[in-house]
Amino acid sequence: MGEHVVVIYPHPDDEAFGAAGTITTFREKGIPVTYLCGTLGEMGRNMGNPTFATRETLPEIRKAELIKACEVLDIHLEMLGYRDKTIEFESTEDVAAHLFQFLNEIKPSLVITHYPGHAVHPDHNAFGAAAIRAVEMFPAAERPTVWAQAISNTHVEELGGPDIENDVSDRISKKLETIMAHKSQADGMLKSVKEEADDIELATKQWLGVESFYTWEFN
Ligand SMILES: [Zn+2]
Repeated sequence: MGEHVVVIYPHPDDEAFGAAGTITTFREKGIPVTYLCGTLGEMGRNMGNPTFATRETLPEIRKAELIKACEVLDIHLEMLGYRDKTIEFESTEDVAAHLFQFLNEIKPSLVITHYPGHAVHPDHNAFGAAAIRAVEMFPAAERPTVWAQAISNTHVEELGGPDIENDVSDRISKKLETIMAHKSQADGMLKSVKEEADDIELATKQWLGVESFYTWEFN
């Protein structure tokens, strides 16, 4: 069975900020990567100043940005069509069964997702839980490895240090290009960095140069 990485996050830009460097290292080795993106982030608060989007146009804008970001990363994209900010109200089993359809087709060697309970946003926690449940649906011997990403401020305190720490500082320009593809979201986030730093690439390296994950233990 060949290697194939599946990334499961709920929002366009989660892959850019969270895993773009790691994804790049896999792609450099010729390993296929598929992104199962839950929503179109249509409830995003950032509609620009001056306003560039309305509630009606934001999903189309974010969809185009997501497609662009996946072109930058050279990965395959599947948009799952959930509504932003509502994944926590879906049944975990139903979402897991939906994700399992993709995983069972792809038979990935590695799944990257959020660490449920330690990923800040309710969509992150709920989608991470469903992704892990989906992997659990494979017989134990056939389960892909899961790298769960914790992003809460207290996760190291609560979970101990992550066992996977990928130094992606050499891939930072690719990561930045991916983040920039999500223009509607990136501008605001990068603006604060720009205001404090002369060298955006250096500042980004310090801020986003390490991507860390916990290998999930199934019991
Ligand atoms: Zn997100």
